[in-house]
This record gives sequence, C-alpha cells and structure tokens, in this order.
Amino acid sequence: MRLRNVTGSREIIAESRFVVHEPAAQKGKWSEVFGNNRPIHIEIGMGKGRFMMDLAAANPDINYIGIEKYSTVLLRAVQKMEVQELSNLRLVRMDAEEICEVFDKGEVARIYLNFSDPWPKDRHAKRRLPSRQFLARYHEILAADGRIEFKTDNVDLFDFALEEVVPAGWKIEAVTRDLHRDEKMLAGNIMTEYEEKFSSMGNPICKYIICR
Ligand code: SAM
Repeated sequence: MRLRNVTGSREIIAESRFVVHEPAAQKGKWSEVFGNNRPIHIEIGMGKGRFMMDLAAANPDINYIGIEKYSTVLLRAVQKMEVQELSNLRLVRMDAEEICEVFDKGEVARIYLNFSDPWPKDRHAKRRLPSRQFLARYHEILAADGRIEFKTDNVDLFDFALEEVVPAGWKIEAVTRDLHRDEKMLAGNIMTEYEEKFSSMGNPICKYIICR
C-alpha cells in the first residue's frame, strides 16, 4: 500500500510521541520503552494501523509495535493515535528487512503478518513477508514458544507461504482457507482494514498459525 504523498508527513511523524524514531537503539531494551516487562507482539506491514490499535485496546497486558515501511501510510496510524492514545502501542517506520537490527534474540513473543504484499514475480519471492528468508529473520527475534499468525485473501501467496513453512524449520499449528466460517480459528479474530475490504467483496480469508 502506498498513499499519495502528504505534505509534511515526515515532519508530523518525526514529532510524534507514538513513533519510536531510532528503533535500532532499543534493541534488547524494548521493555524500557513501555516501562514494563509485558510480552511484545508486532505487526509487520501494519498499514493504517487499525488491527494494532484494536488489539492494543483489547489487551492492555501486551505491548504492541506496529511496523510500516512508508511514512505516508504510517501517518494515518499516527493521526488515529492522536485521537485514541494507547500506552501499550508504539509505531515504527522501517523496512522489515532490518528487523534483526531492531529486536534482540527472543525479544518478540508474537508476529502478525496481515495481507502482506504478494510480490507476484518469482524473482521477487524473497521479498514476500512469509518467505523462508523472512522466516529465518523471524526465527532470530521470536521467543522459543513464539507464534507467527498470517492472514491473506491471496490464494497464490497463501500456497507459497504454506510451502515455505517446513523447509524453513517451522510447524503448522493451525490453518484454514475460510477463516470467517471456521468457528474455532475465528474466535477472538480482529479484522484488519484489508480483511474488512476483501471479505466484504466475498473473498475467503486464509490464515495460518506457525511455531517451531
Ligand atoms: N496489514 C494491513 C491490513 O491488513 O490492512 C495492511 C496491508 S497492506 C496490503 C501491506 C502493508 O505492508 C503496506 O502498508 C506496505 O507498505 C507494508 N509493507 C510491505 N512490505 C514491507 C516491509 N518490507 N516492511 C514494512 N512494511 C512493509
């Protein structure tokens, strides 16, 4: 997702108290950012931030970090945080390729990937957020009992993601190709902006949860 450039978006982000501006400086010290030792859950490719905000509001005992590559998109989350401040949510503008420079070994308890960009060309497969190259990075930062939760309506991307799990050394804990009709996996589901859009168009939502 890329939005039209908004004049001053970088400046607004630079001044926001909800954004962690030098995330690599917090490596191994994220508990200090939140002022407590609660588990840290992150969403990579957060978009406009609705999912993170709803989760943070529902789970005050968990600390959340929403990661987004583009400032024009992050700006929307910053603006929402101005209206609904959440002490257990921080935002970071960065490329997920740098994730191991930002989190220490085992520092993250859960990773959410929602409606990740598909990068349909084969030569771009390693840019896909559920690729084995990214799973190797997530392995570094995720606690031993940590989980990755991935949702998408893109069947090709989901097939690819499932094929990556075992070769990358992970196990499928739960999987569905129609989340909204799967009573068990739907329990407690929080919709993302893309999930709302695509499910309202009738697209089934695929989801997996993986662990090691
Ligand atoms: N997760 C949101 C949702 O489900 O509504 C947004 C989905 S949108 C299709 C994917 C988002 O991931 C975009 O905002 C894009 O900028 C971001 N993104 C893609 N690649 C990224 C990367 N390497 N690092 C951080 N963010 C990334």
